[in-house]
Parts: sequence; structure tokens; C-alpha cells
Amino acid sequence: MNLSDYISSLSNTTSTIFEGMAVTFSHLFREPITVQYPDKTVRPVVDMLPARYRGFLEVQMDICTGCKRCEKSCPIDVIAIDLVKDAETKKQVMGRFDIDLGKCMFCGLCVEACADESTGAIRHTREFEAATTNLDAFVFRFIPEGTQPLYRAPKDKSTVPVGEYGPHARAARERALRDNPTTLDALRALQAKAAEEVVEAKAAEAPEAVVEAKPAEAVVEAKPAPEPPVPDATS
Ligand code: SF4
Ligand code: SF4
Repeated sequence: MNLSDYISSLSNTTSTIFEGMAVTFSHLFREPITVQYPDKTVRPVVDMLPARYRGFLEVQMDICTGCKRCEKSCPIDVIAIDLVKDAETKKQVMGRFDIDLGKCMFCGLCVEACADESTGAIRHTREFEAATTNLDAFVFRFIPEGTQPLYRAPKDKSTVPVGEYGPHARAARERALRDNPTTLDALRALQAKAAEEVVEAKAAEAPEAVVEAKPAEAVVEAKPAPEPPVPDATS
């Protein structure tokens, strides 16, 4: 490289550095286009999400018929519904409606089943915030205590009194955070116990596998012990 090329390259490098820094410094005097979440948003983020956002599921219990279509349509058993007979009225009522949102994949199959064939009691909301260290806090219980009478759906589905989306999910989330006390350690202990039970059940189902294993163990045990070293005759 001759001297003129060297000076030209130096000048080019210097000017491009200043061009880049000019762009960077210009941002010091512009209004930021980002906002800090969640304190400085103009409106709550939940209100800015699209209406069809698939957030937490909720159940409007006063329009739930107890048909269990949602439970049956869930491919991974996230929903648990118990129907029981009321001791006084002898009528069928609902004793449990739990959704384990820690397992849910938000596919919407339960929502579709309910909307198409029942009253639309179960639906996605725009609620999404529930940071917690406790997995049990994702089990939303829509019947916190007692039982819930079943709704008798009218023939004309347009007359079903569908209410606002969101308050049932928010209430269930508050209850779950407050009332579901199992810690991760306790859950791990439960899982370890369940795994042990599976192993025991398998052993009980196929005892011959255990019996066959015994001779092999016996062979290992029957191996002759290594001979002691022969003492050196010269010493
Ligand atoms: S009415 Fe809807 S939410 Fe209630 S059990 Fe039937 S499908 Fe599920
Ligand atoms: S959204 Fe999908 S995974 Fe979640 S409860 Fe409904 S059917 Fe099950």
C-alpha cells in the first residue's frame, strides 16, 4: 500500500466512525419508542391484547351445564369435572371444575367443543400474568367450595346470559395463588412416590423378570475369589 492509499483508508475509517456515532447520538434527543412493562404502559396490557387472544381459560359457572364435553375433548386431561348427587334435592350437581393451566397447551379444543355443542361457558380470556414458583398455583378451581347447580341450556343459544370475559379467570387465579400451598419440593416428592409406585406395579405385573434376574446375580456372587499372591522364595 502506497502513502496516498494509506491516507485515504485512514480518512475513510475516521469518517465512517463519525457517521455511525452521529446516528447513535441522534437517539439521545429522540422520544423513546419503548415502554417499561408493566408500570408505564398507557393502559393495562390485558386491555391492549386482541379479543381472540388465547390467555388463561375461565369457566362461567352459572351457564355451565355439566355436560363434560370440554373435559372429553381435552387431549391431555387438563380439565377435571366431578358430578355428584345433592343429598337434599337428589339432583345432580357439580362438585369440582378444575383446570390445570400448568399443563394446558392453549389449543382451544375445549373452548370449541363448548361453543359448538353447549353454552360457551368455558373460554379463553386475555389474562396471562401469574408468575409464581409454585406449580400448583396454576390449578384454577372454579368451584372453590360446596357444589354448583347445573345450568339448563335453553333451545335458543342466543339467550344464554354470557357475561364479561376475564373476572372468573382473575378470581380463580387469586384463589390459586392464595390457597394452593404445595411447594415444588412437595410436588417433586409426590412425583418420586408416583414413580416408585409405577416401578413396583411393573414388578408385580412381570414377576418372572425379577425371578430370571436372580440366577445371574447368584453367578456373580459365586465367582471364585482371586488367589492370594505367591510369596517370593528368594526373600
Ligand atoms: S357447558 Fe361447557 S364448560 Fe360446562 S361442562 Fe359443558 S362443555 Fe364444559
Ligand atoms: S386449551 Fe387444549 S390443552 Fe388446554 S384445557 Fe383446553 S383442550 Fe385441554
